[in-house]
Amino acid sequence: MHCRQGRENRRRLYSVYRRVKNSKGEEMCCEEWRRNPDRFYTWYADRVKEQNGLCEYCHLSGDTTDNYGSKGFRKSRRGFNLEVDRKYAKGLYSPDNCVLACYPCNNAKSDVFSYEEFLKIGEAIGKAKGKLK
Ligand SMILES: [Zn+2]
Repeated sequence: MHCRQGRENRRRLYSVYRRVKNSKGEEMCCEEWRRNPDRFYTWYADRVKEQNGLCEYCHLSGDTTDNYGSKGFRKSRRGFNLEVDRKYAKGLYSPDNCVLACYPCNNAKSDVFSYEEFLKIGEAIGKAKGKLK
């Protein structure tokens, strides 16, 4: 049981990494992460600690079932883990330009809201979902 969960977690994290690495044919990923997945995983783990395991924007869990119910946002392997969001859409996926966001926030922010704008939107999302609990 434990072992299977560990494997599934690694698979999900790998799919997070793949999305970062393969974004626009690898053009959007910094060389450090492209060449060395371990650098990415270390960054991810540090960032999870720094954000207390919560989304940068709404401060809710990366596991969407905690706040959106079991059907909610889960699509393939998404909605289980915090995802990597580029603060500035014109920049690369790199340690300086990235934070961790839940799938709904990452999806909604897309390339159309700036980091600063989405901090405000995320706060509203967090409050709305917080009240529903
Ligand atoms: Zn969020």
